[in-house]
Amino acid sequence: MAAKELADQIVDVLVPLAVDRPYSYRAAEPLAAGDIVHVPLGNREETGVVWPGFGGAPAKTKLKEIIGKADAPALPLELVKLIDWIADYTLAPRGMVLRMALRRSAELGAAREKVGVRITGLKPERMTEARARVLSLLENGLLRSKSEAAEEAGVSPGVIDGLIDQGALETVALPPEPIALPPDPEFSVPALNPAQARAAKELCEALRTKKFAVSLLDGVTGSGKTEVYFEAAAEVIRQGRQALILLPEIALTTRFLDRFAERFGNRPAEWHSAIAPRKRARTWEGVAKGEIGVVAGARSALFLPFKDLALIVVDEEHDPAYKQEDGVHYHARDMAVVRGSLAQASVVLTSATPSIETENNARRGRYQRLQLSERFSGTEVPQLEAIDLKKEGPRKGRWISPRLETAIKETVSRGEQALLFLNRRGYAPLTLCRSCGLRMRCVNCDTWLVEHRYRKRLVCHHCGFDMPPPQHCPKCETADSFVPIGPGVERLEEEIRTAFPEARTLVLSSDMSGGVERLRAELEAVANRDVDIVIGTQLVAKGHHFPGLALVGIIDADLGLNYGDPRAAERTFQLLHQVVGRAGRESAGGRGLLQTYQPDHPVMKALLVGDRDAFYDSEIAAREEARLPPFGRMVAIIVSAKEGPAAEAHARKLAAHAPLSDDVRLLGPAEAPLSMIRGRHRWRLLVSSPRNFELSKYVREWLEAAPPPRGSLRVEIDVDPQSFL
Ligand code: ADP
Ligand code: ZN
Repeated sequence: MAAKELADQIVDVLVPLAVDRPYSYRAAEPLAAGDIVHVPLGNREETGVVWPGFGGAPAKTKLKEIIGKADAPALPLELVKLIDWIADYTLAPRGMVLRMALRRSAELGAAREKVGVRITGLKPERMTEARARVLSLLENGLLRSKSEAAEEAGVSPGVIDGLIDQGALETVALPPEPIALPPDPEFSVPALNPAQARAAKELCEALRTKKFAVSLLDGVTGSGKTEVYFEAAAEVIRQGRQALILLPEIALTTRFLDRFAERFGNRPAEWHSAIAPRKRARTWEGVAKGEIGVVAGARSALFLPFKDLALIVVDEEHDPAYKQEDGVHYHARDMAVVRGSLAQASVVLTSATPSIETENNARRGRYQRLQLSERFSGTEVPQLEAIDLKKEGPRKGRWISPRLETAIKETVSRGEQALLFLNRRGYAPLTLCRSCGLRMRCVNCDTWLVEHRYRKRLVCHHCGFDMPPPQHCPKCETADSFVPIGPGVERLEEEIRTAFPEARTLVLSSDMSGGVERLRAELEAVANRDVDIVIGTQLVAKGHHFPGLALVGIIDADLGLNYGDPRAAERTFQLLHQVVGRAGRESAGGRGLLQTYQPDHPVMKALLVGDRDAFYDSEIAAREEARLPPFGRMVAIIVSAKEGPAAEAHARKLAAHAPLSDDVRLLGPAEAPLSMIRGRHRWRLLVSSPRNFELSKYVREWLEAAPPPRGSLRVEIDVDPQSFL
């Protein structure tokens, strides 16, 4: 026994729970950092990872022993480092970051084997007609799965079993079907235009150096950025290495997967929350073993255990969907760059409207800019005109101005499509009692209820609370006194149907019943010109290619500008630019009309004259002046509790404990703009510092020394906040 104890090593194991440090265990077998192991924890069993860097603290108490190694490949050290990096930067508990990397399915276990049968040459003792059919089907000696054989021969599975018992058939384990067939880099090589070829060449050269580099593939909408980074992916496949393509809206990317298959012969492996558990497990394992060459996925794919990652593409890098806003608050674009540097991989960010951060990095030469300034089809980016709502607004109770209505009429009568953009789901954002002025509010949140007329409900867009529209006002009890205020896409559709009763109209919004399948079908219908007028929320802005679309009308261009949000101008510019970029992609004469009360706003002006650089010049200067990101660092701390006063008191206590520092500026505590969500009252502190200051470290030390939250109190930390609600 003594010999065994001597051989025991002490290892640290991080478990995927809300803990920041690993626990120490004794291990009887040799283990290495990254190994996935089962360990006892309390009176349960957990699956964790052997973690380096904590130096197995000498045990005061008797250490428990590791149960054993899991039947799964180890996490690559690069991924272990990424997890450490993200935990240190975002201040999320290390175990919660690890959890994202272990989300492969509860247990890998052995895949349920499919069994195949083939003939042995022995004849069964008794031949029946059914048995004869099976034997003649399998005469060529090839393997077939049991169920296939039964079905094709038109017999019951019992007949197959009978033949096995008689020795006339033998069973053989079938290998599982591959998760993704290998992509073929020479399957269908496109002819690139000169600008594309230049950009593709640069990317391939960067790949050959096998060094970390970031490129911004900066191309107008429709310039063919996808074809360019496909060439980089082809290079990676030729090298026998691995590529990851991150997409902002993976559920809607059938078209992308098909495009990939057109180029490479097969679809890539997919990774997002809707993948079935067993497929997840096998994809995870295939990536770890290096058997899967290309993965297309949502931001969570960043945590896959790539064996030899050479390329990360972040498609539409400016998209807000890359920021995770719950649990671990991380930005997948920024973390893709971190992972790229850990892996010495190439990172390609694509956009027609880069984030201020990325644009600034490209201007300062930190990222290489590869420019595609013309559309592949040669058509012009649409002409934009403003409709000044102060001067030529719609008639009362309507939302479409006469000039926009005329443009729609012309477009539809030419057989082309029009898109009306309004970033508001439902029928009306506010329901008001005509008699006493009561506004219908959510019971859990500080928000108005949005009327959804199709569903006949009033809905909260923050917590999902819903109720039928009341017959009587709950306050003054007047009957039928409620009126809808303001438009949502459903209300706009009503106006369109009245004005254009003949036109085929479609509302594209993420909240319609039927889910992703329906959306996919609807997007297909638009692309196939089965629809004349599309009314859509921001969903339509995302990279879709609608060849017949000639006119885009922005119903309320000012909608995103009104908050005290430092990113409002950037977001509005990006969103409107992207929406307008859907028009005229294949035929000339694309047109955009922008309804606004502020035609002189810098965002509107930059959009109207098509001067993107002017927008970036002024926005970058303004951020620099105000020391806002990326020229300063910022952390938001949200304190929430079931009772408002408790949240306020704790927020004030935290502020009082902030260590003195000349570099740090503290704003608040103040009630958050959204002062209540899901029944929790919210108070906010904004902390900022110069760029060269380690703000994460400062906040970590501050909160560790401050009184811990008790009772219903919760403290949420958001480093580099994107949302200021
Ligand atoms: P972006 O992503 O820059 O908006 P896409 O990559 O979607 O643009 O390309 C726009 C359209 O042009 C697509 O229909 C695409 O298939 C086509 N296209 C781009 N490059 C090529 C090429 N080299 N050969 C053929 N078609 C191309
Ligand atoms: Zn609510």
